[in-house]
Amino acid sequence: MKQSITTLKSQLPKDIWSEDINIIAPHLKEWREIYNGNTPIMLTPRTTDEVIKCVNACRQNAFKIVPQGGNTGLVGGQIPMGEVLISLTKMNRIREVSKVNSSIIVEAGATLQEVHNAANNINKQFPLFLSSQGSCTIGGNLSTNAGGNHVLKYGTTRDLVFGVEAVLANGDIYNGLTNLRKDNTGYDLSNLFIGAEGTLGIITAASLKLFELPKHTQRALIALQSPKMALELLDHSRCGGRMSMFEVMSHISLNAVTKNFSAIRSPFKKTYPWYVLIDWDSDSKAMGLELAENLLSTAYEKKIIHDAVIAHNETQSKEILSIRENISAGQKFLGGSIKFDITVPIEFIPDFLKKADKLVTKLIPGCRPIAFGHFGDGNIHYNISQPPNVDKEKFLKKWDDASEIVFDIVTELNGSISAEHGIGVMKKRELAKRSDPVKYNMLKLIKNALDPDNTMNPRVLLYRS
Ligand SMILES: Cc1cc2nc3c(=O)[nH]c(=O)nc-3n(C[C@H](O)[C@H](O)[C@H](O)COP(=O)(O)OP(=O)(O)OC[C@H]3O[C@@H](n4cnc5c(N)ncnc54)[C@H](O)[C@@H]3O)c2cc1C
Repeated sequence: MKQSITTLKSQLPKDIWSEDINIIAPHLKEWREIYNGNTPIMLTPRTTDEVIKCVNACRQNAFKIVPQGGNTGLVGGQIPMGEVLISLTKMNRIREVSKVNSSIIVEAGATLQEVHNAANNINKQFPLFLSSQGSCTIGGNLSTNAGGNHVLKYGTTRDLVFGVEAVLANGDIYNGLTNLRKDNTGYDLSNLFIGAEGTLGIITAASLKLFELPKHTQRALIALQSPKMALELLDHSRCGGRMSMFEVMSHISLNAVTKNFSAIRSPFKKTYPWYVLIDWDSDSKAMGLELAENLLSTAYEKKIIHDAVIAHNETQSKEILSIRENISAGQKFLGGSIKFDITVPIEFIPDFLKKADKLVTKLIPGCRPIAFGHFGDGNIHYNISQPPNVDKEKFLKKWDDASEIVFDIVTELNGSISAEHGIGVMKKRELAKRSDPVKYNMLKLIKNALDPDNTMNPRVLLYRS
C-alpha cells in the first residue's frame, strides 16, 4: 500500500493531494454521525484534466475511488472506507450562463447556493432548493438526484439537467454538456449519471436548466388536524400551477425546533396536531395575498383547516420556512434517531403514517415518530426518535427491525424505500432484497459495462457478484 501511494503521488501534481489528517478529517464524518471513514489520501483536482489524471493514477495503482462533493449526503455514499477520496470542491467555476437559452454550465464542485446566485444575477432561478444548499454541490445533487422543496412544480434534479460531463472509470471523458431541449439520438447517457451515486464515473460539470423567477412567492403556515386533512388541503389549494411547495410537519416536529432554538417561534398561540407550509407563485404581492386569503378562508369554512398564518413580508416568510428547515437539527436534541426517506402514492400517505406509527411504537414502546417533509410529492421523512431515558446505542440496534416494518408498509402501498436521499451503503441490502430482479440485474449490467473493475464508489448502491 505504502509503495502504491508513493507511486500515485508521483503521478499527480503536488498541490492536489493531501495525507494531512487535519485536512482530511472533516471529509471522513458526516451530518448524521453514523459513518466514520478512513482514506490513505485525499485528492482535490481543480480541472477535468486533473480528474482524469487522478482516475488513471488510481486505476494504475489498483486504488478504488469515492467521489465527494459537499459531504451532506445522508446515506454514507460519500464516506471512504479505505478507498482514495476525490473531493470535487475545488472545481467550482461557473463556465457559461445563457439568458436567451435559460441555461447554465457549472462545474461539479460549485455549491447549489453559488448556482442560485449565478442564476439570480441574470434574473432567473435554478429551482432546486435544499436546506443544505450552502454546502451541497451540483455534482452531489446530480449524483443523488436530489429532491427538495420545489419538486411539486419543477420536478427532481433529473428534470433540471440538459447533460453532464463525466470522467469514466477507464479515464475517458464523456462530454454531454449540451443545452439542447430536444435530442433524440439514442439512450440518454447523461441521465445514467443522475442518481448513480458516483458508481459510474465522476461528474465534472453539468449543463442545467434555468427558469423565470416568480415575481412574488406567497407563503402561509396552516394548522390542521391530520394528514387526511392535509390531503384535502393539497387538492383544495393547488391553484393551477401556482403551488410550488407543500410541506407537512407533525406537532412534535415543529416542537423539536421551537423548543430547542430560542430564535424560532411558532406563529400560532395554540398548538395543533399537524402543520402545512405552502408557497404559491404569483404575479404580485397583492395577488399572492388575495389568493392565499381566498383559498385559506374557504378551506376554513369547509373545515379542512383549523387556523392559518399568511406571511405579509419577507421576514415573516423566512421565519415560517426556518421552522421547516430546522427540523432535522432540532431532532438531534431528542437523542438517537432512526430515519427513513420514503415515498408512497400521495393518497396513501395517511395510511402509511397510521400503520407505521402503530407498528413502530409496538416495536419500540415510548419512541417518538417524527413525520415531516415533501407531502406534495408523496415523500415523507419518517424519523423515529428514541424513547426518553433509553440508551441510544440499544435503541439504534432496532434500526433493522424498524426498517423491515417501515419498508414492508411502503412495499404494500406501492411506494419506494428512497424518495430522495438515495441508497448509498445504508439501504443497499434493502434495494437488493426489494427490487424487481430484472431491474436489479439491469442496474448491475450497466455498472459492469461502465466500470468492470468496480473502481467507482465500489461499496455503494449494488452488490457485485
Ligand atoms: C440539512 C440537510 C438537508 C437536506 N435536505 C435534502 C432535501 O431536501 N432533499 C434531498 O434530496 N436531499 C437533502 N439532503 C441530502 C443532501 O444534501 C443531498 O443528497 C445532496 O444532493 C448531496 O450533495 P453533496 O454535494 O453534499 O454530495 P455528497 O454528500 O458529497 O455525495 C453524495 C453522493 O454523491 C456522490 N458524488 C458527489 N459528488 C459527485 C461527483 N461530482 N461525481 C460523482 N459522484 C459524486 C458521492 O460519492 C455520494 O455517493 C439534505 C442534507 C442535509 C444535511
